[in-house]
Amino acid sequence: MKPSVFLTRAWLWLLVALVVVSVAGCKGKRLLSRDEEIRLGRQAGDDFEREHGRDWDHRRNGILQRIGQRIENVAEPPDYPYDFRVLADDAVNAVAFPGGRIYFYRGIFNALGYDENQLAWVAGHEVTHISRQHACRRIERSLGYELVIQLIFGKDTAGEIAGVVAALVLQDYGRDKEFEADRIGLEYTQAAGYDPTAALAVLQKFSEIQGKDPSDFALLFMTHPGNTARSDAVERYLRQRGWTGRYSRP
Ligand SMILES: [Zn+2]
Repeated sequence: MKPSVFLTRAWLWLLVALVVVSVAGCKGKRLLSRDEEIRLGRQAGDDFEREHGRDWDHRRNGILQRIGQRIENVAEPPDYPYDFRVLADDAVNAVAFPGGRIYFYRGIFNALGYDENQLAWVAGHEVTHISRQHACRRIERSLGYELVIQLIFGKDTAGEIAGVVAALVLQDYGRDKEFEADRIGLEYTQAAGYDPTAALAVLQKFSEIQGKDPSDFALLFMTHPGNTARSDAVERYLRQRGWTGRYSRP
């Protein structure tokens, strides 16, 4: 992405939404009501969507709605109005906005061969980021709460905002949170009736893509912990739970 993209309103909304989650999830105090939190998340998503475009392909949307419904039904509280959408972007990625909005980039369907078991685990991973309110840790670690409030509600320059957002998007939720999303994602996948071992195929595919053409690989997934480490952790967890399936390794 070019730096100019960082300056758009979408990212400002994202920051606002992340702060909301930060307040609700980390501090135990709420700056805004739950309804406002959800509304802000949606606005951030709408801006993000305008930037990339929405993909209305019948097959992809049908698959995602079906998977989303099943994962949502087994997700742990707090309940969020999950809303799964396809983005008209060929990158291999998926992203979760606080409050329930989840985007699958168009490119991830092809990369995973439209395999619903694999896509279900990705959905489980993203739902976990929302249900466990991971965004707050990221904000706190990278910026500190006060600075974010100041930047959003106070006077600021474009340069400052760009710096803040660049810092944000260049970081992931942190290793622990990503491993947690992988693990809880397995629980959701299994509970929803999908094959959780499909996670191994997803991570295998990710390392292939990353090795072949890193530029094809969206930033958010690049900053996740190494695919080998994730794969090992997933395998350990599957063994611990005694879950086997089509993608089990000997
Ligand atoms: Zn993640």
